[in-house]
Amino acid sequence: MLTPRPGILDISPYVGGRSHLAGRDSAIKLSSNESALGPSPRAVEAFKAAAEKLHRYPDGGSSALVEAIGRAHGLDSARIVSGAGSDELLQLLTRGYAGPGDEVIFTAHGFLVYPIATRAVGATPVVAPERELTADVDAILARVTPRTRIVFLANPNNPTGTYVAEREVARLRAGLPASVLLVLDAAYAEFVDAPDYRAGVELVDAGDNVVMTRTFSKVYGLAALRLGWAYCPPAIADVLHRIRGPFNVATPAQLAGIEAVRDVAHLAKAREHNARWRERLSAGLRQRGLNVTPSVANFVLVHFPPDDPKRNAKAAEAFLHARGIIVRNVENYGLPHALRITIGLDHEMEAVMEAFAALMA
Ligand SMILES: *Cc1c(COP(=O)(O)O)cnc(C)c1O
Repeated sequence: MLTPRPGILDISPYVGGRSHLAGRDSAIKLSSNESALGPSPRAVEAFKAAAEKLHRYPDGGSSALVEAIGRAHGLDSARIVSGAGSDELLQLLTRGYAGPGDEVIFTAHGFLVYPIATRAVGATPVVAPERELTADVDAILARVTPRTRIVFLANPNNPTGTYVAEREVARLRAGLPASVLLVLDAAYAEFVDAPDYRAGVELVDAGDNVVMTRTFSKVYGLAALRLGWAYCPPAIADVLHRIRGPFNVATPAQLAGIEAVRDVAHLAKAREHNARWRERLSAGLRQRGLNVTPSVANFVLVHFPPDDPKRNAKAAEAFLHARGIIVRNVENYGLPHALRITIGLDHEMEAVMEAFAALMA
């Protein structure tokens, strides 16, 4: 009998945020942490121009893109590896450094790609509990064994919106054996304004066993193109280049990404819009008596009273659907009494605020 490799049938396939409601042509989609403002118009133009050359293979090393990223972030482009979304890079890192018999640690409400990547290579997922919906460095360190190969830390985390301060991340690295790779998944780094937060550049530079991953899917608004990058020690960049697909990033994605990182005015606008609504939405929900986890990202996690049949998370989700608003049900993240709401456009956020006023009245 033909059977896939051990672990693969233990994977629960990733389910993205829903985008349609039955019986409706359009909806307010706040379920996938996509950019409210969308991409830079310059990125869209570059994408369109790429249509002229679709018969040519992409530049396999994405050299112009990694140079543009390097310049924008002040990083050595030789240490930057691009991927088809940061998802691909997370998968490649797992494949490069873990296999059957190895353990991979992530936190209780961490990003669901980590268990998928872990099981896909036949390694064993190890879940570290969180404290107040925040990664707990001591709990992670307590789960390290001689078999541990990788620790994934989403910072900020999705779906909680919480973050781990620079000092704590440094303490995590210092407490891990040199043989363990620490992956700092900083998909939401651009949205953070907390002064004690760092995406991870300094820790990558400080040694040979930390990688930082970033994405164009969130603040840059290019989720459809599948574009991400990793900042790596040279030996890890070398491993990724050996195992990645030879043409893993499509030309339209590379060209759009170059313009996206150059358009700093658009980036500033997106960050400002997000910060303003993150505060307003959080305050508005709290005013209605709901508990909101403090968020540094482009979404908020709101908690509902499980025992109130009209206002529990399921009822709230149905209520929002009836008003054409789609948010993320986070039951599969182990948060059955919460919903995750992405920051959208002004009129979308107004609609959410009105819906909650009606729900909680
Ligand atoms: C959205 C997200 C990503 C980005 O995924 P892409 O594959 O780059 O679209 C990575 N990590 C976390 C925690 C995310 O929420």
